[in-house]
Amino acid sequence: MRWTERQRRMLAAMGVRLFEPRRVMAHDDEGVDEPETVEAAPRIDTAPPRATAARRPGRIAPSPPAAAVAPAGDVASMDWPALQAAVAGCRACGLCESRTQTVFGVGNAHAHLMIVGEAPGEQEDLQGEPFVGQAGKLLDNMLRAIGLTRAEAPPAQQVFIANTLKCRPPRNRNPEPSETARCAPYLNRQIELVQPRVVLAMGRFAAQALLATDEPIGKLRSRVHQRRGAPVVVTYHPAYLLRTLADKARAWDDLCLAATLLEQAR
Ligand code: SF4
Repeated sequence: MRWTERQRRMLAAMGVRLFEPRRVMAHDDEGVDEPETVEAAPRIDTAPPRATAARRPGRIAPSPPAAAVAPAGDVASMDWPALQAAVAGCRACGLCESRTQTVFGVGNAHAHLMIVGEAPGEQEDLQGEPFVGQAGKLLDNMLRAIGLTRAEAPPAQQVFIANTLKCRPPRNRNPEPSETARCAPYLNRQIELVQPRVVLAMGRFAAQALLATDEPIGKLRSRVHQRRGAPVVVTYHPAYLLRTLADKARAWDDLCLAATLLEQAR
C-alpha cells in the first residue's frame, strides 16, 4: 500500500505506525498453541442479486417493507432480496416494538472485508444504516487509512457493514441473549452471502456473539480467530474509541492486522 503525504501526516499525528504488510500466523478461538498460516475463505462465483433501490449505487438497499416472520431454517437458504424482506418484517423478538426501522446493512455484496458491529444506536435506528454519526465518521477515516471505503467501489475496496442485531435496543441497553439468538440467523446468512475474506468484529458484543465466547475484548484482539472458515479480527468499537483515545493505537494495530490478512488473501 502506498501512503499519501496526507495519510502519513494524519497517522503521525495519531502516534501510530504505518501499515506494512507482514506474514500473519493464526490462532483459533479455542487457544490452540500450534500456529497455522491463514488462508483466504473460498469465494462463490454466483453473484448475489444486487439491490434495486439502493440509496447509493453499488450498495445493498435499505430494507423493503415485509410482513412475514421467517423461521431460522428458511433464513439459511435465502437470497439477498428475501433476506432483506425477512429482516424488514421480522417480529421475532421484542425489539421490533420500539424500533423505528430495521438496520439491514450496507456495502458491497462481494466485499472482501465485512465489518460486524453491535446493534443500531439512535441515529442508526433513524437513518436505517449502521455506523453513522461521529462513530461512523471515525470508522470511515480508519477504513480510508488502509485504502477501503463504504462508498461504491470494487469488492476489494468497498466493505460490507452489518450489525449483530438489526433493531435498536431501547435506550441503547445491552442486548438480551434471547434477542441475540433470535437475530443470529440473519447475520449468519449475510456472512454466507458476502463470503468475506476477512471479518472485522467491532466491539465486545459483536466479538463475543460472533465467536461464541465471553472472553473480554482485550484478550480477543491482537490475534486471528477462525469462524466457519473465515478469519476474524477483533477490535474496539469506534464509539468506544471516541471516548478512549488511548486505545486508538491498539485499534490501528488491529486494522493493520486485518489489512495484512486481506493482502495475503489476494
Ligand atoms: S432484533 Fe433481529 S430478531 Fe429481533 S425483531 Fe429485530 S430483526 Fe427480528
